[in-house]
Amino acid sequence: MHYFLVDCWSSLTREIELNGFSAVRAVHPRDLEDLPRCPACELPVWPRRTLFPFAIEFTGRRVGDIAFHLGSTAVVSSRFMSAWSNSNLTGLLFSASPLEAKFLFSDSACRVGAEFFAVDPEPEFCPLSESAGATYEEPPSCETCGTGVVDSLDRVEFLESHRPSTDFFLPSSLPGWFAVSERALGFISDQGFLNFRFVRGFSSRSGSEKTLDYA
Ligand SMILES: [Zn+2]
Repeated sequence: MHYFLVDCWSSLTREIELNGFSAVRAVHPRDLEDLPRCPACELPVWPRRTLFPFAIEFTGRRVGDIAFHLGSTAVVSSRFMSAWSNSNLTGLLFSASPLEAKFLFSDSACRVGAEFFAVDPEPEFCPLSESAGATYEEPPSCETCGTGVVDSLDRVEFLESHRPSTDFFLPSSLPGWFAVSERALGFISDQGFLNFRFVRGFSSRSGSEKTLDYA
């Protein structure tokens, strides 16, 4: 099984590209929730998730089927949510009702439907395998979470013994990223959902500057 990262990293720079898709921000202060700590080293692994309900504002001019910039929570369109819910793919927990959404531009720029839902991908403890070709600014010291600061990555491959069990998840070895299985990538690409870009690997020259290798 191959895995890929979802490019949530460059959401703010992408929205200012020509025809770039909007990021999202919470309108009021958010209520945040911690994700589980690693059961072995007890370190917190992931950014916190945003508790539903919360109001959002799209900050760019063109709305896609997914928007990022809320830590471990993302925002998806109703058409993405229904297609995913009718598939046999796993890992996403959607809010029970739509979010209150505002647009900083004309509503007519939004072509993907009027409703948006919060979505929380499953946290998965999945250390990278040797074959991922990772180099580290801070190497991982725990065999359960494999959490470290990754400088560069050739491909997204996890230890055989800790394979993720879901199709859309938060990988403990790459905190801050969302990841998908190959079949989730196929599903999203086939249906043409907007604002998904998949990453095979990356290299960083400093923590804030990354070159992404798109799939
Ligand atoms: Zn750990």
